[in-house]
Amino acid sequence: MVTGGAGFIGSHLCKRLLEDGNEVICLDNFFTGSQDNIKNFYKYKTFNLVTHDITEKFIEKVDKIYNLACPASPPHYQYNAVKTIKTSVLGIINMLELADSCNARILQASTSEVYGDPIVHPQKESYWGNVNPIGIRSCYDEGKRCAETLLMDYHRQNKTDIRIVRIFNTYGPNMLPNDGRVVSNFIIQALKNEDITIYGDGTQTRSFCYIDDLVDGLVKMMNSDCTGPINLGNPAERTILNLAEMIIKLTDSKSKIIHMPLPADDPVQRQPDITLAKSVLKWVPKIGIEEGLIKTIQYFKELL
Ligand code: NAD
Ligand code: UDP
Repeated sequence: MVTGGAGFIGSHLCKRLLEDGNEVICLDNFFTGSQDNIKNFYKYKTFNLVTHDITEKFIEKVDKIYNLACPASPPHYQYNAVKTIKTSVLGIINMLELADSCNARILQASTSEVYGDPIVHPQKESYWGNVNPIGIRSCYDEGKRCAETLLMDYHRQNKTDIRIVRIFNTYGPNMLPNDGRVVSNFIIQALKNEDITIYGDGTQTRSFCYIDDLVDGLVKMMNSDCTGPINLGNPAERTILNLAEMIIKLTDSKSKIIHMPLPADDPVQRQPDITLAKSVLKWVPKIGIEEGLIKTIQYFKELL
């Protein structure tokens, strides 16, 4: 079962699991998910869609749960902050109870946001983070931190079979055009020759991972003996200004860069240390930023 299976990452994961011959339940409430992302899966007899909200209990016989349900883009998770934290906290309790009821293994899509605005760089799994508990990002960051706590407590108390993955910025086809995250925003602005909106001076950094690499890591983690937490991301770090310039060049756009106010608590730097994933999962991202952006640009060109 993939919760959030109609979303960006979830739809790619469902595709991979179906292609590998698995029976897949895609569970989603369609807050940021889309029917378009899963329309090609109905040809598989092994694909099942359940429209459901994980803040409500769910009973089904499953053997593996990938818990991805949660809006991931700041404008979407801040739209209804109370609902976002309920999705992380009540949602993971419901999924852990489900896992316990059928002895299923559960993998949680956690996030680099558990490190907040990190003081340690690059971020290792042993770092406890620097998170504002009362800011506009807290509904997401603290919700995900609390979910990790719940997974570890169910594991210690009930021997629940858990996996925790901390995902760093991932991009690719199937992101919503109005997703609000930086890669989709910049590509759409560039394709329309509109201004590219850099928040702040653009010196903040992120490390971008292409979706196929991430999905490979998720499946490897689910099938490994490691409970985690484990970082999954591409360590190639760049500034947001550099990303904007790259996208303008790759789209041959006439767009100009403009600067807008930096949102509160926007992390200054972010880069995963993936030593653990390399050694335990034998996983390294293979797709560089230029190759990944070209594929993503092609997707948005067709969509527009
Ligand atoms: P997304 O918004 O595209 O997908 C989230 C999916 O969850 C959507 O289909 C949405 O409709 C569904 N959903 C939301 N709330 C739900 C609820 N209460 N019940 C059922 N379904 C619900 O986001 P994404 O980028 O695909 O992220 C997927 C997961 O990975 C999220 O948990 C996110 O926190 C995590 N993650 C993503 C990134 C990234 O860079 N994309 C980074 C770190 C962590
Ligand atoms: N960002 C930007 N312009 C945009 C969207 C985002 O400059 O149109 C910046 C944002 O302020 C942040 C970085 O890009 O510094 C990554 O933002 P995103 O929302 O994609 O992910 P997150 O902040 O959660 O890592």
